[in-house]
Amino acid sequence: MHGYEAVIGLEVHAQLATATKIFCSCATEFGAEPNDQTCPVCLGLPGSLPVLNREVITFAAKFGHAVGAQINDHSVFARKNYFYPDLPKGYQISQYDQPIVSNGHLEISLQNGGKKNVRIARAHLEEDAGQSVHDGMPQSQNKTYINLNRAGIPLLEIVTEPDLSSPDEVYEYLTELKSILQYLEICDGNMEEGSLRCDANVSIRPIGQKKLGTRTEMKNLNSFNHVRRAVQHEIDRQIAVVLQGGVVDQVTLLWDAESQRSRVMRGKEESHDYRYFPDPDLLPIVLDQAANSELANRLPELPQVKRKRFIEDFELPQIDAHILTNDKHLAAYFEAALRHNCSPKLVANWMLTELLRELKGLDHGIDRCPIAATDLGRMVALIEGGEISGKMGKQLFRLMFDTGKAPDKLLVEHGMVQIKDETILIGIVEKTLGQYEDQVEQYRSGKTKVLGFLVGQIMRETKGKANPNLVNQLLIERLNAEMSSHA
Ligand code: ADP
Ligand code: MG
Ligand code: ZN
Repeated sequence: MHGYEAVIGLEVHAQLATATKIFCSCATEFGAEPNDQTCPVCLGLPGSLPVLNREVITFAAKFGHAVGAQINDHSVFARKNYFYPDLPKGYQISQYDQPIVSNGHLEISLQNGGKKNVRIARAHLEEDAGQSVHDGMPQSQNKTYINLNRAGIPLLEIVTEPDLSSPDEVYEYLTELKSILQYLEICDGNMEEGSLRCDANVSIRPIGQKKLGTRTEMKNLNSFNHVRRAVQHEIDRQIAVVLQGGVVDQVTLLWDAESQRSRVMRGKEESHDYRYFPDPDLLPIVLDQAANSELANRLPELPQVKRKRFIEDFELPQIDAHILTNDKHLAAYFEAALRHNCSPKLVANWMLTELLRELKGLDHGIDRCPIAATDLGRMVALIEGGEISGKMGKQLFRLMFDTGKAPDKLLVEHGMVQIKDETILIGIVEKTLGQYEDQVEQYRSGKTKVLGFLVGQIMRETKGKANPNLVNQLLIERLNAEMSSHA
C-alpha cells in the first residue's frame, strides 16, 4: 500500500442548447459549413457590440435550481484576456468573481451502494471560442484553418469543489450531470459534438492529511471513458513521482486518448495572468425575482426523483431504475409502454436486454427506436397473458424491430397464431409422453420438476406455437391420469 489518496475536482463546459449564440443572433446548429454562422460580433470585428441572449439566463437559473444552488441576483460578465488564433477579440467574455450560480450540490451513487454529495462551487456563463482545424483541409500539412462557427456559442461552466476521490466517482458524477442537463433540456450532452467538455483537476495527498496537494489540470477529455482513464493514469503518475522522492508540478496536461498518455501543454496559468476586468460593453445581469421563482416551480421531475419513483411504484431493482432514468427518453419510453396493462419488470427486462442491444447494433438512441413504446407494451402483455409463448415473443420482437409494425398485425401476417385447439395439443402431448418414458417415470416417482422439460419438448415440437398454459394443464392431466391407471 502506498498510503496516498486522490482528490479530484471537475470543470465541465456544457454547451447551452439555445437556437442562437450568446451575444449575437447567429445560429448554433452543429455541422454547418465553416464560418457560415458568423457575424461582426462573433468575428470580433471592431465597433460591434454584444447583446445578451436572455435565454441563457433562464437556462443557467434552471440548472442552479436543479442542483439546489443559489441563483445570484447580481452577476457580472468579465473579459478574460488571452491571445489565441481562434479568439479574434483577444478576450473571452466570461464571468469571474460574480457568477450567476453558486453553492450547489449533486448526489451520486457509489459502487458500494452508498451516496455521496458532490459540492458544486459555481456555474458561470461564458462564450465559446472558435476552433483551429489542423486536419483534412487542402495543405493541412503546413496550414491551420480557423472555423469560428463555435465562437460565441453559450457555455455554462460547472465547477465542483475537490470532492471526488476516484475515477469511478468522476464517471458517476458526469453521468448524473449529463442526465440533469438533458432532463432540463438545456444541453444535449453530446460529447462527440463537443456539447459537453470536461477538464479534470487531480492531486494526491497522504491518507488522513487535510491539506490539498499540488494539482494538475488535464484537458482534451472527450468521452466519459477517456475522463475515467485519464484520471486514473494521472493518479498513478503522481503517486509514482512522489514515491520516487519527486514533487508534482502544477501544470496543464493534454490527454492523448490514442496512446493513453498525457503530455505537458503548459505551466499552469494563474487567474491574474488573464487580467480579468468587468466587460464595459455589457450590463450586470439583475435577476427578475418573480420569473426566477416561477422557474423553480416549473422544474421537470429530475432523474433522482424519477429513479426513486420507479423503484417504489414499479418495484424495479436499483440498477434497472438507474439505467432507465439516466436517459430521459428511455424513461419516457418505459412509461409509455406501461400504458398497456403489463408488468413493469418485464418491460424493463425487454428494454434493458433485447431493445438496447439491437439499438446499439444500429448505433441508434431510443429516440430512433423502430418499435413504438406502446407496441412493446402490447407485446409484453401478449406474452404475459399467455397468448403467445416466450419463444414466439422473441420472433415477434425481431419482426417488430425490423419492420416497425404493430405486434397484432405481424402475428396475422406471419401466421404466428397460437395452437389452442385441445384436440391437436392432446395428440402432441401423448406423442411426447410416449417418447420420454423415462421422464414420465421420474414424474411418477415424485420428481415433478421434469414437467418443465416436457413442456419444453412440446414447445420445441410446435416451434413455440403451442399455448404454454394449455400445454401445462394438459400435461398434468395426462400424467396424473397415467399415474392412477398405473396404480
Ligand atoms: P482554476 O480556475 O484556476 O482552474 P479553481 O480554483 O476555480 O481554479 O479550481 C478549478 C477546479 O480545480 C475546481 O474543480 C476545484 O475543485 C479543483 N481543485 C482545486 N484545487 C485542487 C486540488 N488541490 N486537487 C484537486 N482539485 C483541485
Ligand atoms: Mg481551470
Ligand atoms: Zn454572430
